[in-house]
Amino acid sequence: MMRDEIFDMVSGRADHEMYWHGKNDKFSLFSAITMYSYKYCHNYEYFVRFCNWMNNQQSGYVEEDRKKLTAPTKLEFLEILEHEEYILQNLLNRKDHIKVFDGSSDFDKFYLWPKKWGEETWGGGGLLPGFEDCKNGENGYKIAERMLKNVQDAIATHKILMGHHSSIELSWLEQICISFLQNIFLTHKDFYCTIALPSIVVSYDNTIKSAYLVNEEKTYWDIDNILGICDYNKNEGEIRLYSRAISKCAKDLEISESYVRLITLIHELAHWFVYKMPDNNNYGNTGQRSDYAKWVNDYHESDKAFKEGWAQLLTYWTLQQIDSLKTFNTLNEHQSKEYQIYKEILNKCDDKNAIISSLIELRSHKQNISFDSWKKIL
Ligand SMILES: [Zn+2]
Repeated sequence: MMRDEIFDMVSGRADHEMYWHGKNDKFSLFSAITMYSYKYCHNYEYFVRFCNWMNNQQSGYVEEDRKKLTAPTKLEFLEILEHEEYILQNLLNRKDHIKVFDGSSDFDKFYLWPKKWGEETWGGGGLLPGFEDCKNGENGYKIAERMLKNVQDAIATHKILMGHHSSIELSWLEQICISFLQNIFLTHKDFYCTIALPSIVVSYDNTIKSAYLVNEEKTYWDIDNILGICDYNKNEGEIRLYSRAISKCAKDLEISESYVRLITLIHELAHWFVYKMPDNNNYGNTGQRSDYAKWVNDYHESDKAFKEGWAQLLTYWTLQQIDSLKTFNTLNEHQSKEYQIYKEILNKCDDKNAIISSLIELRSHKQNISFDSWKKIL
């Protein structure tokens, strides 16, 4: 069957149905997506075609005053699917409101329209299509479970189609900065070779809400787990850049998105190098580090201030090389104290070479390492 025939077949079923309109366009979009997109596996491209098809209907069951549907961006499509997932989870978790399944309770309680999408007073629109089946006697809870599974599968598939978990192409500036970062180590006499980079991938997981966790009023745009993460254990190491949080952070703080990504990338790579970069003292000439296991353990056990102190200090030095500390400083003002503690090191010691030597010394320490033990040896 040709693609267009499949589309006609699917959309043909929609002409006797409706989608609901609200005050804002996003609501109409939400309504149309929840009511129709499940019919074609929540595929984005089909939905865009569906919007065009719906807008071109002249007569029949489509109301004349119906507003045009503006096709969503891929990210909006994802956000709406995630909202549907959230509604269904909410519904399934609150068994005291189970009567919604038989249509005897308002749907409003579960609807929870996000304020950030604009005002929407009516809470019953864009009803989830499966609940129609309740009237035919099917168990509502089971329907909601099935719909949740469907939408979760759809989210996973849509993210993959957006490029989730694929390698990112490094910009020229990112490549230059990686070289500067490596050079901070390699110009020291005891760091004799570099190591392979971990894979660097984009992630469309939504980590934004973690920036609001500490305080509802204030956001903390810490790097790890919000803007990016260095996963030491996955395969040969993996850095994930959380594209949605990077974009939101840049927008909120009115700074350049590409610089937020650059800072995140260098910060995560700095973690990687502190953890992995071989040095003469601890690896020896054979390239085999006798106490490697101890260092790995010490690194993971060390306090947050030690790990973030190193990563931030190295990021600071790297951006200093390209005269780009403005964005770094703005971002730093909106981060928690562990991300600012690197300044204590700079205040204590202004000899870069001596600070790098301190890493080699700390790696061979007998006891566990911490930010305080680092400061003591400087
Ligand atoms: Zn970090």
